Amino acid sequence: MKKQIHNYIAAITVIIYFGSCQNRIENKMDATTKPDSTETNVVQPPLIEKVLTAAEQQALTPDMVIQSLKDGNVRFKNNNLTSRDHSSLVRSAASGQFPKAVILSCLDSRIPVEDVFDKGIGDLFVARVAGNFVNEDILGSMEFGCKVSGAKVILVMGHESCGAIKAAIDDVQLGNITAMLTKIKPAVINSQSFEGSKTSKNDAFVEYVAKNNVIHTIETIKLKSPILKEMSDKGEIKIVGAYYDLKTGQVTFL
Ligand SMILES: [Zn+2]
Repeated sequence: MKKQIHNYIAAITVIIYFGSCQNRIENKMDATTKPDSTETNVVQPPLIEKVLTAAEQQALTPDMVIQSLKDGNVRFKNNNLTSRDHSSLVRSAASGQFPKAVILSCLDSRIPVEDVFDKGIGDLFVARVAGNFVNEDILGSMEFGCKVSGAKVILVMGHESCGAIKAAIDDVQLGNITAMLTKIKPAVINSQSFEGSKTSKNDAFVEYVAKNNVIHTIETIKLKSPILKEMSDKGEIKIVGAYYDLKTGQVTFL
């Protein structure tokens, strides 16, 4: 009887040991080479329990990070978000952060940025402001994210039906919103060649201005941040734009 109990405990120990090895292997894969699911091959990603390390961040290229964002968005659209042990991730991230990318998104509540790219704690720097433009503070934040903390990509993401874009088109005057909209107005001015009704009621025009706003923001980043421009010119980072479709959750890279 005693021997049977001993054998039983030994068997359980072996199962637990191999289970924990498997977890470690899967977590290692996520940071570097884990194959992401695609629309034609949807598999349940493993539970993520660890954050990116400095070495793993260092090994990434800007193109790998962009692909990781695209693959994450496919999982988001397919309602196939990765399971994450947030308590474990919080503890793991406390000693340092080595995120892959800086995302500049709109304030809009319908765009949960980490979820949109299926990323978790320690994966992304996220800056949000209505109309996803840059100012001195956000440029400084981007420089911190890339030059100091090693992120490989800056992604500027506009979106469908953006209220800030509509307000800029309508020349809204209200409190601090008036000054804020001056940052978006250049995109409206750059969009005057649009053929059709140039009002906020015209969804096609709002989309046109939103995409021009992303382009203008990227140009402003390169113009006003010599640090980021140099990193981009050297291929150390990529600065890219995207557009988010509210109805489908699709991120289209511009
Ligand atoms: Zn918006």
